[in-house]
Amino acid sequence: MPKANETVLEIDLGALTHNFNYIKSKLQPNTKFLAVVKAFAYGSDSIVVAKHLEKLNVDYLAVAYAKEGVLLRDAGITTPILVLHPQPINFKTIIERCLEPSIYSIRILDEFIRTAENQSQKDYPIHIKFNTGLNRLGFCKNDVDYIVSELNRTTSIKVKSLFSHLAASEDKNETDFTNHQITLFKSIAEDFKSKLNYSPLLHLCNTSGIINYPKGQLDMVRSGIGLYGFGNSATEDAQLRPIANLKSVISQIHKIEKDETVGYNRAYKAKSVQTTATIPIGHADGITRVYGKEKGFVFINGKKAPIIGNVCMDMIMVNISDIDCKEGDEVIIFDGSHKASNVAESSGTISYEIITAISQRVKRIIISD
Ligand SMILES: *Cc1c(COP(=O)(O)O)cnc(C)c1O
Repeated sequence: MPKANETVLEIDLGALTHNFNYIKSKLQPNTKFLAVVKAFAYGSDSIVVAKHLEKLNVDYLAVAYAKEGVLLRDAGITTPILVLHPQPINFKTIIERCLEPSIYSIRILDEFIRTAENQSQKDYPIHIKFNTGLNRLGFCKNDVDYIVSELNRTTSIKVKSLFSHLAASEDKNETDFTNHQITLFKSIAEDFKSKLNYSPLLHLCNTSGIINYPKGQLDMVRSGIGLYGFGNSATEDAQLRPIANLKSVISQIHKIEKDETVGYNRAYKAKSVQTTATIPIGHADGITRVYGKEKGFVFINGKKAPIIGNVCMDMIMVNISDIDCKEGDEVIIFDGSHKASNVAESSGTISYEIITAISQRVKRIIISD
């Protein structure tokens, strides 16, 4: 791998293949694989990632918003795409671009049927979302009869799947709650299916659900974070490979005296003579202020350098007093061995947040399989 000489995010498709195969190996033989590629494939590159997953024969893709699905269709992706959180204003676009909406409330169902009928659709695929305890999006179990009556009234739509979302699948202290969600979803789904004359797919598990609750795998699973290399537990993290490496370079080195300060608002004050390095990555690139004030760190020549003072929009300063390095040397913010989850946790956040935050200003470099 050539050394970084500017800020770059490398996307390692070999790691993506590895993670896909690893998660697939955890599935029951007939369980389908939906890959969640929302938020630019968790901050990487949704087109590159979706095309690669399509080559690996993924069954389904999901995005959060309609425009994310449009981006994939514009890039030539033909795999079915579930839109997890659409708004009525997007329904026409959703139909035009063959995207499949999650229908999560009576308002959304009625609006979607109206649009589908106006567009003269027949059996347009939709996915019905139930709320089983997350209290975020979804119908409740008492809505089943209304949904079925609407389905009997129109030929414009057809239910491709029934699904729900787990609230705490990664949390071993919440197994009772999660088991309750699984049971509740299964009973709603059975009731619903008994009132239809066809069988939609059932799906419930995200990455941690797949690992921790195999009985919840049902007909399909929805994996996001695992594909990107994080498993929400040390044992899973050891099996997965982060697909994104965030690298930069030392722009300038300063020697500072005791009591000199570094950065805006003079938030860091040197306790002795010190050496600092300035790195061209800041909060506009996704390294938010939570990583400042020595909570976050980077690696230079294998050694840990804490981020000192406040994170600037375009730069951070790090303490390199104990590190043998020079201007132009490579800086690792995270990669396969310096995991994003570690710097996230030491700064009070989670892997999901640090990786999805990497902004579009950072150049993406694709490392092929
Ligand atoms: C984001 C999301 C997922 C993926 O969850 P991971 O924990 O990243 O595997 C699955 N389902 C829904 C509804 C989501 O919003």
